[in-house]
Amino acid sequence: MNSLASQSYPNNECVIRTRGLKKSFGSLNVLKNIDLDIVKGENLAVLGRSGSGKSVLIKIISGLLKPDEGKVEVLGQEIDKIGPEALQALRMKIGFSFQNSALYDSMSVKENLSFPLVRNKRHLGEKEVKYAIEEVLSEVGLSQTLNQMPSELSGGQRKRIGIARTLILKPEIMLYDEPTAGLDPITSIDINNLILKVQKKYNTSAIIITHDLTCAKKTANKVAMIVDGTFLTSGSFDEVFTSDDENVKAFYDYNF
Ligand code: ADP
Ligand code: MG
Repeated sequence: MNSLASQSYPNNECVIRTRGLKKSFGSLNVLKNIDLDIVKGENLAVLGRSGSGKSVLIKIISGLLKPDEGKVEVLGQEIDKIGPEALQALRMKIGFSFQNSALYDSMSVKENLSFPLVRNKRHLGEKEVKYAIEEVLSEVGLSQTLNQMPSELSGGQRKRIGIARTLILKPEIMLYDEPTAGLDPITSIDINNLILKVQKKYNTSAIIITHDLTCAKKTANKVAMIVDGTFLTSGSFDEVFTSDDENVKAFYDYNF
């Protein structure tokens, strides 16, 4: 089995690259040594037990959390070495689909979608904002929800609106935190298809955190599993899941 570092690509082809990434909270060493390479247009599924540091990893990549040690390069920039303005500009190129969708409950769908645009692209006129909202809503198949409140939406619809809200800034990287968790199988298939559609249409690269092996298999070009703060295995879905490592087997047996 390869480690991601050993499959490394030339620097200029990577949109995300980490080396020796470490992160602790007090005495809890969550990430001990994470090496990963993602090239343009590639989707990586990250698997691992609850509490293994998956969300922490993508929060570091998106600049929401700081690493303790190691290198984190995103779109050619070292994320903990750049100033606040450059970081803000970089973060606009990264779409974060939160596990709980993180919609603003007191705002309509339309307001949820216009918020990132109005905040980050102040020069846009009313018409351009309206057009951008219509475009992303149609992209996620929810044009009819424009004036609804988040509380009126199903779990799957909330997920889609959360994804639409990230697409409105035309991200180059997407980070999906458990995109199908808590959804029924048919809605999960819709979300998997949406992830693939986003990859194609926007030419995004993505990290998809999931416990759902169908989601990993359908949406990702390669998968990696975090065990004890580092990537235990990585490779294509079939390479990883023919491993006889107990951690990998447990995941497989649970899903199938
Ligand atoms: P998961 O793999 O389930 O997504 P997380 O990445 O959310 O796990 O968390 C990994 C570990 O780090 C957990 O034990 C969690 O409690 C801890 N942790 C995450 N964020 C923080 C934080 N901001 N402060 C302290 N501990 C944290
Ligand atoms: Mg998590």
